[in-house]
Amino acid sequence: ATPTALLAGTSRGSQLGILIRSAQVLEDTRGANTIVMDKTGTVTEGKLEVVDAVEFSDNRNLMVRAAAAVEARSEHPIAQAIATFGQKSGSLPAVQNFESAPGGGVRGNVELDGATHTVVVGQQSFLEAEGISLTSDQQGQLRAQQESGFTTVIVALDGNVAGLLCLQDTPKSDAISAIEKLKSQGLRPVLLTGDAEPVARAVATQVGIDPHDVFAGVSPEDKVEKIKQLQSEGRVVAMVGDGVNDAAALARADLGIAMGSGTDVAMEAADLTIMRSDLESIPTSIRLSKATLKLIK
Ligand code: ADP
Ligand code: MG
Repeated sequence: ATPTALLAGTSRGSQLGILIRSAQVLEDTRGANTIVMDKTGTVTEGKLEVVDAVEFSDNRNLMVRAAAAVEARSEHPIAQAIATFGQKSGSLPAVQNFESAPGGGVRGNVELDGATHTVVVGQQSFLEAEGISLTSDQQGQLRAQQESGFTTVIVALDGNVAGLLCLQDTPKSDAISAIEKLKSQGLRPVLLTGDAEPVARAVATQVGIDPHDVFAGVSPEDKVEKIKQLQSEGRVVAMVGDGVNDAAALARADLGIAMGSGTDVAMEAADLTIMRSDLESIPTSIRLSKATLKLIK
């Protein structure tokens, strides 16, 4: 290989805001035929906002403030959105016995309206593991919100389902065009997320990913298993993500791509970092790698 050409490739990359860990990365990029994309913060902006609260109990204010208080202790984008939303209804009480389950939800105890409440907020499987189940009517309402594309979490107070919080996220403005380019470069886009299936499908449809290529409800550990499975099917896998929960999968992929807006852990695990966190930089990196390698061969 001509070191000059490789150097030129990596330095052109840095001008474009693409940080390439080593020249070897350019080789790996060439063979990729599948691009696995994390949903929240990668395909979408990751700036969630609570747009609706559905209460099953009669105390909406209690549900909202209790959920917000506990979420104020978490750094997840869902948590920050819920905390911001709850602050509009009054100051948030202190939290005791806070616990967080990555990819599941949070729990804690709060004192509100003169009583101590046990609060659990998260996805359905997390609540079920806590012994809290939804009635079929509540489940129907949850599904309807998810099918509209809202990331929806359940709030339980003292062991009973109190309501739902529905959050909106928006696909990045360049998602459709970047995914179109990746397809024309011969890469098959796959969406991988811990969020629920109906939400993931709604996003996939909006950005041009085949609903058959959606893997939802995937825990951080299972993201790695999914990459291994695709590789065992003979696919050469590029993966793009931003979270702590994506790091192991990025390291396992044939080519790991991190978003610059994401966590340090993701960037450390990746071969390539997109500084501007735009999706268009991914087809650009692939084009750059191929052009650089052509100069060498
Ligand atoms: P993603 O793959 O979209 O980044 P995560 O693996 O972080 O998602 O989370 C998966 C799901 O777990 C979320 O969609 C949500 O239902 C639930 N969840 C995770 N963290 C929290 C939290 N702090 N509060 C409530 N729910 C959460
Ligand atoms: Mg993410």
